[in-house]
Amino acid sequence: MSHLAPHTPTVHLVGAGPGDPELLTLKAARTIKEADVILCDDLVDPRVLEHASATARVLYVGKRGGCPSTDQRFIHLVMIREAMNGMKVVRLKGGDPFVFGRGGEEADALRQAGLQVQVVSGLTAGLAGPASIGLPTTDRRHTPGVALVTGHAKEGSKGPNWTALAQSGLTLVIYMGVARAEHIVQALVAGGLSPETPAAIISAAHTPQQRQAVCVLSGLVNTIAEQGLLSPALLVIGDVVRVAPMWGKRSTQVGLKFLETPHTAAR
Ligand code: SAH
Repeated sequence: MSHLAPHTPTVHLVGAGPGDPELLTLKAARTIKEADVILCDDLVDPRVLEHASATARVLYVGKRGGCPSTDQRFIHLVMIREAMNGMKVVRLKGGDPFVFGRGGEEADALRQAGLQVQVVSGLTAGLAGPASIGLPTTDRRHTPGVALVTGHAKEGSKGPNWTALAQSGLTLVIYMGVARAEHIVQALVAGGLSPETPAAIISAAHTPQQRQAVCVLSGLVNTIAEQGLLSPALLVIGDVVRVAPMWGKRSTQVGLKFLETPHTAAR
């Protein structure tokens, strides 16, 4: 729609960041505070909702991979109905709403219904998670860039071109990759990436449950299993993992010894 009436209802797609509520933007905190209705993802840290007004209605519409999830069309309908009824609607998503958050699909549906969409960017887990263990995703000494990739391709689609990624020289930050780690490692090695390439797994970054481990690519699947690293987690693959302080300690890493959270470590 190109000519929106001045009072066209607006829906706010808001990024809640990766966990720690201090990583919320000021704009996200204000938008949450002003909301009448909040449709909340399951990856949103409960502490973020402390910004909501006591009278706000919070609807949990999470869609964790593999679990029963709210139908996407239902989410669209509720947002449209509430906004048309004059409610201030916030669609709250973990991380950034436009990074693997279906934010694009939702914005399309809202605009098609004649609504305005405002996006409040959030800190994506794929950048903030590695940073929490001192792992920069780009570093000119190691890599010319970073690729944010899904490990969980949409049904019927081919998924990422792992061969091209293996040959790209980029840091690979893989979202939703834990369940598919075996396939991903095989595909990257078949594509030419060395099995000795450094890798990291960061689970529940910026939450009190955060755990992480580093290993080489060929050891990724075993490390995930041995350490019990659960979703939500990021896989980071590339030479830049050497910069993480944990990398230097990895040969002595036993069990949970180096799995302290950064919050504990900082104290
Ligand atoms: N929009 C989100 C990503 C949603 S996709 C963002 O920008 O961060 C869901 C995937 O994101 C999870 O499977 C996991 O790979 C990653 N993820 C989200 N929050 C995470 C966290 N706190 N720690 C580690 N990975 C996380």
